[in-house]
Amino acid sequence: MASAKVTINSPSGLKITIPTGIFIDNEFRPSLQGGQTFESVNPATGKTLCSIARGSVSDVDAAVASSRKAYKTVWGKKSTPGQRAAALFKWAELIEANAQELAELESLDNGKPVWMARDFDVADSAGCIRYYAGLADKIEGKTIEQVEGEKLAFTRVEPLGVCGQIIPWNYPIQMFAWKVGPALAAGNCVVMKPAEQTPLSALRLAELSIEAGFPPGVLNVVNGFGADVGDAIAKHMDIDKVAFTGSTATGRRIMASAAASNLKKVTLELGGKSPVVVFESADLDQAVNWATMGILYNQGQDCTAGSRLFVQDSIYEKFMPKLIANFKAHKIGDPFHPDTFQGSQVSKVQQERILSYIEAGKAEGAKVEVGGGAWTEGAGEFANGFFVQPTIFSGCKKGMKIVDEEIFGPVLAVAKFSTEEEAIQLANDTAYGLGAGVFSNDSRQCMRMASALEAGTVWVNSYVALSNAVPFGGMKASGMGRELGVDAIKEYTQVKAVHYNYGEDLDWPLPAKL
Ligand code: NAD
Repeated sequence: MASAKVTINSPSGLKITIPTGIFIDNEFRPSLQGGQTFESVNPATGKTLCSIARGSVSDVDAAVASSRKAYKTVWGKKSTPGQRAAALFKWAELIEANAQELAELESLDNGKPVWMARDFDVADSAGCIRYYAGLADKIEGKTIEQVEGEKLAFTRVEPLGVCGQIIPWNYPIQMFAWKVGPALAAGNCVVMKPAEQTPLSALRLAELSIEAGFPPGVLNVVNGFGADVGDAIAKHMDIDKVAFTGSTATGRRIMASAAASNLKKVTLELGGKSPVVVFESADLDQAVNWATMGILYNQGQDCTAGSRLFVQDSIYEKFMPKLIANFKAHKIGDPFHPDTFQGSQVSKVQQERILSYIEAGKAEGAKVEVGGGAWTEGAGEFANGFFVQPTIFSGCKKGMKIVDEEIFGPVLAVAKFSTEEEAIQLANDTAYGLGAGVFSNDSRQCMRMASALEAGTVWVNSYVALSNAVPFGGMKASGMGRELGVDAIKEYTQVKAVHYNYGEDLDWPLPAKL
């Protein structure tokens, strides 16, 4: 039975029609568990947007069976790199052609400003799919000639099979693209689980994938909750790899489930508590602007958010007023207004979580320099939305929750340092290792810092911006494996060695070696 479609009336006047079902075999179906559904909420208003099918363990089983069949019959080794590239190129084109609609859908579901969703999230996602379309026919093995006798060896770089992918709500379209791009280009089939807070854009992307020409089963999308759909993917005996982005706590659970089931391969992109270090030689205004962007971009819901800022004591007094002024300067509120930089947090749960961290910061003795609560003043029609004031704490020390734990909101913890050695010690004093930033006009110091900082990505005199061509991932408790760039292809392929004998005969019984 085909599942329903729903039309969302966007505040722009656009009518956005999306399928609501579970996407299996290029069809949208109701949940196998009694047709159950769940609601998606617009976090900027607190109002329900629509109901969509809520997947169950049985739906995951059906999706995996469909992907396995597609892998054996039409994708994997049954497809050519050219076929995979053609579908991916077409999909990227369709995403671009529907950019405004996708951006509005993303904004309504997530709370982020529409213009940012369109110009960054959607544009980058189309770029990501296109990047991997281009790599599909450049996946190569090698020959190894130094093999004894009349033999050589060569390697084949083969897909893994069926990949489960579990993504978060902070960049729903982008996380989808980062995951499916390399997986499909390399010949894998995918069972995708979007986050329950932001299930909508994945449904539209799935619909566009049919038009792009992907055969049934190559990409299946099962919306639903972590405890049932996500857990079923992590434990599934017929999934070859699970790729996850989200919290460190859930990452640990997924890895344990993967180990306890079929030892499927695991890649994890987890949380962060990324340091930004500003030295006295830095261009002050630029450092202030990048540091502001580093924590406030995407409402602070970024795994690389520069949430711990260390400023050299000699420039601290000049730096702070500029930083505080920046935090007061941008427009908060209506995600559909073209001047808005900060929309709402993704959900009430997240808003409350951030506010409880702000209260902990106050109780633990850090000083609120600006912000410090929910954003309501002048909210008007968005008074029931889940907004948070951009907040700066100074006098922050290790041991405070706002310094040690990922907040995932627009909350910055600031401290002073005096020497480079001290800055390195403070910056690296965390269990995480995802991002780090350094601001200095001393090029040798920048290089020393780039080497010393324990993070998968180090920005020098900038922050937060990534490129589809550059690998991204975490050190320490921030995860394992890399996304983006050529490196991501390695995470979706396995190397087979072939020993090829073209002339050596074997005598039997083996002659004794003298
Ligand atoms: P989460 O890690 O629980 O959710 C991320 C994804 O994992 C979602 O799709 C969810 O359904 C799924 N999931 C949840 N439990 C699962 C399970 N047992 N098995 C398999 N999949 C499961 O994150 P959250 O609860 O939405 O947010 C909590 C905190 O996590 C945030 O405040 C933030 O600190 C962090 N977070 C980090 C990122 C990131 O990009 N690193 C993204 C989202 C959230």
